[in-house]
Amino acid sequence: MSIFNTKTLDPSVLRQLHRQLLQDFQQLKEAKLSLDLTRGKPSADQLTLSNSMETVLEGNYITPSGEDTRNYGGLDGLAEAKALFAPVLQIKPEEILIGGNSSLTLMYQAVMFSHFLGLTCPESAWNREGEVKFLCPVPGYDRHFSICESLGITMIPVAMNNHGPDMDEVERLISNDKNIKGIWCVPRFSNPSGIVYSDETVERIAKLGKIAAGNFRVFWDNAYAIHTLSPDAPKLASIMDFCRQYGTEDNVLQFGSTSKVTFAGAGVAFMGASAKNLAGFKKHLGISSIGPDKINQLRHVKFFAAPDSLEKHMQAHADLLNPRFNAVLSRLDANFKGSDVLTWTVPEGGYFVSVDTQEGLAKKVIALAGELGVKLTPAGATYPYGKDAKDTNIRIAPSFPKLAEIEKAMDAFVLCVKLATVEKALAA
Ligand code: PLP
Repeated sequence: MSIFNTKTLDPSVLRQLHRQLLQDFQQLKEAKLSLDLTRGKPSADQLTLSNSMETVLEGNYITPSGEDTRNYGGLDGLAEAKALFAPVLQIKPEEILIGGNSSLTLMYQAVMFSHFLGLTCPESAWNREGEVKFLCPVPGYDRHFSICESLGITMIPVAMNNHGPDMDEVERLISNDKNIKGIWCVPRFSNPSGIVYSDETVERIAKLGKIAAGNFRVFWDNAYAIHTLSPDAPKLASIMDFCRQYGTEDNVLQFGSTSKVTFAGAGVAFMGASAKNLAGFKKHLGISSIGPDKINQLRHVKFFAAPDSLEKHMQAHADLLNPRFNAVLSRLDANFKGSDVLTWTVPEGGYFVSVDTQEGLAKKVIALAGELGVKLTPAGATYPYGKDAKDTNIRIAPSFPKLAEIEKAMDAFVLCVKLATVEKALAA
């Protein structure tokens, strides 16, 4: 079927199109597909890239600086792991803490400590000040929103544009509400839009500490810091460099991990912060832990010992991911480019393609795809409280399935978008 604009098609053509689409839909239903585009996780091929980590230690557990990784201690991680991962967050080795296998855990702990205990001192606890609110750029990462919801933190959605969050709105809200204590940011290849924050946006976010009330923190989740799909992908400015310029180093907490670099279940997570924040975080962390898995940290240090090995490794990931992303984007282009049916982002890194249907159709498209056996992320998942007021956003995650599966799933998705859109046009 050729590209169509539902507004310019006359009703008889739309009705004919509808009959054809229904027929295609019934036919595809009989194929009994069982496909899944929900999971933003690496494929088995990507995981295999890191298999030699298992043997890289060759029985030697002592770090180059002489630490025995088998034993207790070292709450904030190995010096060598700090040197390896600090550049990922564009900070100095003394500004990083290397933790366990999940940056989400570090984020959860940072919010918990800040809320209930006070990150830097008891007086700084957010819960002493009544209602606590976070700004949530949307669409965004559902698990950030789950952290807030589970801790009773009120979420205020802020729209994203092509440069990051709408900063006029962010600044207006923060300067008028002393209960706003945080903002979630995924600054490079945002989940799900793939947007990279512009230099101006990064600078304005670094300055938020100047206009916010006390104990405000930017949660800078740089989960896709080095996860480029193209060598020309936009770079991200260093937020800490801007913070140094404005004296707001204490207002930013940065996070990252190797979940989508080495093993998603057995990677290394890290947190970048000012000396004051790190000291506060470590004080609370030390109550619950004697130290992280240093053996795994050493594996990572040895695995990435050669110069440029991290860059080469990420290129190997890109080589596996690019055909999968292309399978999604080429189908969207072929069917919807220039139409009024669907808009989408063309990410140059990260794990997702974010699409927007016409208003009020995301749930319907997802339900139709479900009938065909194609699982999509639930509508609204990319919004606080699961509420996408316009019901337009759908997150497509092409990394995990095999290429042939993505192709089939996308053909079914395209059909569902067309069917839902034509039915809307006929009902208008
Ligand atoms: N942050 C973002 C934006 C993500 O998309 C993900 C995983 O999809 C995570 C964090 C989870 O990271 P980790 O595996 O380090 O907990």
